[in-house]
Amino acid sequence: MSHERDIKALVAQMTLEEKASMCSGSDTWHTRGIERLGIPSVMVTDGPHGLRKQRASADHLGLFDSVPATCFPSAAGVASSWNRELIRRMGEALGRECQAEEVAVLLGPGVNIKRSPLCGRNFEYFSEDPYLSGEMAANHILGVQSQGVGTSLKHFAANNQEHRRMTSDSIVDERTLREIYLASFEGAVKKAQPWTVMCAYNKVNGEFASENQELLTAILKDEWGHEGFVVSDWGAVNERAKGLAVGLELEMPASHGEGQQQIIDAVQSWELAEAKLDEAVERLLNIVFRAVDHRRPDTVVDPEEHHQLAREIARESMVLLKNEDSILPLAKAGRIAVIGAMAQEPRYQGSGSSQIKPTRLEDISEELAKSAGDTATLRFAKGYELNGEEPDESLAAEAIELAKGSDIAVLFAGLPSRYESEGFDRKHLRMPANQAALIEAVGKAQPNLVVVLSNGAPIEMPWLGSAKGVLEAYLGGQALGGAIADLLFGDANPSGRLAETFPVQLSDNPSYLFFPGEGDKVEYREGIFVGYRYYDKKKIKPLFPFGHGLSYTSFEYSELAVDKETLNDNDILHVSVKVTNTGGLAGMEVVQLYVRDKQSTVIRPDKELKGFDKIRLEPGESKIVSFELDKRSFAYYDEALHDWNVETGEFELLIGRSSQAIVLTGAVTVHSTATRPMMLHRNSTLSEISQSPLGQKIVKQLIANLPFSAGLADEHAAMLRAFMEHMPLRGLLSFSGGKFTEAGLATILQQLNDQDQEVTA
Ligand code: BGC
Repeated sequence: MSHERDIKALVAQMTLEEKASMCSGSDTWHTRGIERLGIPSVMVTDGPHGLRKQRASADHLGLFDSVPATCFPSAAGVASSWNRELIRRMGEALGRECQAEEVAVLLGPGVNIKRSPLCGRNFEYFSEDPYLSGEMAANHILGVQSQGVGTSLKHFAANNQEHRRMTSDSIVDERTLREIYLASFEGAVKKAQPWTVMCAYNKVNGEFASENQELLTAILKDEWGHEGFVVSDWGAVNERAKGLAVGLELEMPASHGEGQQQIIDAVQSWELAEAKLDEAVERLLNIVFRAVDHRRPDTVVDPEEHHQLAREIARESMVLLKNEDSILPLAKAGRIAVIGAMAQEPRYQGSGSSQIKPTRLEDISEELAKSAGDTATLRFAKGYELNGEEPDESLAAEAIELAKGSDIAVLFAGLPSRYESEGFDRKHLRMPANQAALIEAVGKAQPNLVVVLSNGAPIEMPWLGSAKGVLEAYLGGQALGGAIADLLFGDANPSGRLAETFPVQLSDNPSYLFFPGEGDKVEYREGIFVGYRYYDKKKIKPLFPFGHGLSYTSFEYSELAVDKETLNDNDILHVSVKVTNTGGLAGMEVVQLYVRDKQSTVIRPDKELKGFDKIRLEPGESKIVSFELDKRSFAYYDEALHDWNVETGEFELLIGRSSQAIVLTGAVTVHSTATRPMMLHRNSTLSEISQSPLGQKIVKQLIANLPFSAGLADEHAAMLRAFMEHMPLRGLLSFSGGKFTEAGLATILQQLNDQDQEVTA
């Protein structure tokens, strides 16, 4: 039975009051049901990396009293796995936990781009790159939804800071919005059809996201084909009826009749067409019934199985940043000093609405001891106070003594939760001074020092020279302890790659001068140059580049091949490359494909990520990795066309181990098939006019007729050509010695515009 027909009939039976009532929640976490019509109420909860189902009666701010759920690593980490299949499995597990708890929609994933490393919520977002972010989000969504549970892709859009998050206005030019900030959502919507999309708190170019016709209707629904409904972020509604009119179907949380009344008033005063309300209710009911139809009340979750999955994901989410003298993996022998309060009180998830109550939490020291076995001796020193800033002399002295008397020291450090959270941004990228000082002091006493970091976003590392090894563990979820032990002792081979650039210092970041804006106004003046798009083009050396991550084995790349060297922009290009594990250990490699536009009349980044794959290779084994590139892989967003456009010309294909470690390069020529009508006018330049054969002929004649054209020496002819290239047609009136007249100009324009010419874009 098609719901579509049922739903239309159902909506027809509803009173105006009933329809308007459905457009706001019934409380903090439920949609409104209507008993007389058999419309159920369903539950939505956070998200994204675990289920935060609050116990009955808790309100939005009762953040911490929720049912136990598996705490997976947060998105900053999971994105570093670059593993689509892995995040899909995480999604499936999340979906099962939702089914077991009767949750219809899980509020996530978050795909806002990491414009600045300062954003307090970066731990919850995937990347600075929209392609990577969109791919990870799509697979997260596909996983959850495969279990008959919906997702909410958030926060739509340009919500890239927490400072003044409910009133700030993100001012972003159209090209930057399309290429960077919207692209991250676009990939996920098109590939995975999230049941819901959550609109952001902030304004975008002057309009609240919750009232933004361009975003919610023109782009999301009409252009990308989103079929589900849009839900407001909690409290993001400004004027309810205005939101409904432009495509915001559900207001959350409940507004206790206010939203409903505003909608009723708007319909009764003819400001809002009732058909618009009907359409919104249809969208809502489609999803509510989809959730009900897919209920699996018998779902039982095995917490141990999900814990093991959390450990597997955590292993792939951690990035080995530095490994001088192959200090890692650690031998399971000798005296190992384990230092740092964070080894005892691990930071494993971020703060705010995503904070969940884990089913259990691994103890890092215990897991290290388990992995090391009987052949090694592990001893612990706290080293610093987690709540402190200034070094504690006696704790530091004890740690230094322990390190001296050991063969190796592993120091756990990072950002305490007071440093980063939903709700505020950081002001700097430093770690607490007591931790930084301890790393330097221990490094002096014990050169064999490995630092393990727990943080949700980049930090500056002035102490980097003091440590031979650095493992970025991000916020590793409830199984972080085991994952860290697996990696440190080599029971697993690190395979995470940074999904964001770590700058040497905050001021290197492209948004630095304009973040977090003035008052409510946040201008994205760096434009498309976000993350590596900026560092690579400016040749600013980051601390660790986008895509970076080390392994205990080595890989070699060869045989980069394309199935055609010349193609049209609507063709698919197949690219392949051979990867061989040339080291002694099995391991996983992330193969990254970047595209560079070699000849462009528009300003473009040095390179952009357009493909990636993660493969596992035994020692000596080789695999062929294949990619498909399409028009979007070569295109930029053309503001004049309001569309994606490829300029005819040569493009380089770069295979990299990071955005700055390119190992193979190939080239193809792409031809544009786009045509655009050209209306020429008196200020069209001679080179623009020359784009058609007729124009070319006319321009040649015009130049030949210039009094100074004949008999020019070569060097002067070159200057004349350059001078003429950007000369507007009417400029010839001044330089033709009277030969070229207004009447002649009008005739030429008529001839050119009459030929109905189209030029390739
Ligand atoms: C957050 C959302 C979250 C919602 C419900 C908001 O404050 O921005 O990400 O899903 O609350 O808790």
